[in-house]
Amino acid sequence: MAFFNWLLPWIACALTFSFEPVYHFAYQNASVQQAQQDPNWIGQTTDRFWRSQALWLIERATEEQDRSALRLARALPANERPEEVGPGEIAVIGTYGKLPDIFVDENVGAIFPMPFSAPTRHSWYRVSLLAAESWRTARKLAAVRISKGPAQTPLERAEALLAGRLLEDLQRELLKTTAAARHMKMWEGSLKDEWRAIQARGLQSHPEHLPTHYRLAHVFSRNDTSTWGLLREALKPRRFLKLPYLPDKLSEKNSETITLPIATDVVDTHFRREIEDALDLHWNRSPWARIHRVRFKIRWVTQPAPNFESAKPFSLATHIEGFPREMASMTTGGLTTLVRGKTLVLGPGRVDQRTIGHELGHLLGFNDCYLRTLGSQGVLGLAVLEWDNPLYPDELMCDNTLGVARVGVW
Ligand SMILES: [Zn+2]
Repeated sequence: MAFFNWLLPWIACALTFSFEPVYHFAYQNASVQQAQQDPNWIGQTTDRFWRSQALWLIERATEEQDRSALRLARALPANERPEEVGPGEIAVIGTYGKLPDIFVDENVGAIFPMPFSAPTRHSWYRVSLLAAESWRTARKLAAVRISKGPAQTPLERAEALLAGRLLEDLQRELLKTTAAARHMKMWEGSLKDEWRAIQARGLQSHPEHLPTHYRLAHVFSRNDTSTWGLLREALKPRRFLKLPYLPDKLSEKNSETITLPIATDVVDTHFRREIEDALDLHWNRSPWARIHRVRFKIRWVTQPAPNFESAKPFSLATHIEGFPREMASMTTGGLTTLVRGKTLVLGPGRVDQRTIGHELGHLLGFNDCYLRTLGSQGVLGLAVLEWDNPLYPDELMCDNTLGVARVGVW
């Protein structure tokens, strides 16, 4: 049995890597209709197999990571050891307190609305690919060589330090894989339910009750642009979260300043100003805000920094839970800059001002307005695919690297 446990991932990964180029080509060129295939029995069954392999490998990689970290801790004196190793994103990669560098936007300006075009796939997630990635990481982790005893000579110390750096990189890789697994799990379930509901109801019965991406596929397959008008409302970016800290409706009065309260442990006033600038440029000066005569103003509420001294392992999730529920929040400690719930999580690296504008849109309760579909990939299981919004391709909430807030529904 142990031998099979060892052999299965090897066979599985060899399969993935050999099929990968073929599938990749097929997906790059697949139409919306083709990519959105019934998650049939073969796809669902193989998907279960891939899932068990991915989970097993991620677990193995985590164990291997702990072992390498322990070896490293023994090899180096305390003051030379790299970042603290432990469970949870903050503790693992030590990004707490690291702010991103906000740069001016380098992408298309989108002053004039772009015409609609056939949607293009912009990203996709598949469990079998995750399995292959975790296998690669587990293998690399096992290869991190650190001598058993404490490092004595300068060469031994250099080797141990190098191993530490490699370990950090691999931890980051592993975290990305597990984050993708979470993303996949989150969307696969709801998309599968959607499929079942549609199959039960019958595809042709009431097209107006079908999810937008099915109707979109339908319109594209028939190349019937006269039906676009019907989709225009459905594809608009909208506020899907009614937040207690924002008004339910926009007032009919002349102009309104809405306060956006953000609790934060980021005290850097220069950085706070940059966030305010992004809100001002991408929301207050947008066509949407002008039409609705609305502007937003941030009210910062300073929070104390978390207590890292406590013995409990510190994860990003527990850290976020510490913020007040009745307002939005902003903190550091992420792998990259993203929004989780109503918290803007900052991570090191470089971000566009427009990306910050997009993320602030989430704090205002707006949803992403690109589309997600679920497709069967035969022996490679299922895939979650993300598509551009063909009617609003340059809308801030439909793409975080280009566009302006133009047609949002409050
Ligand atoms: Zn988004």
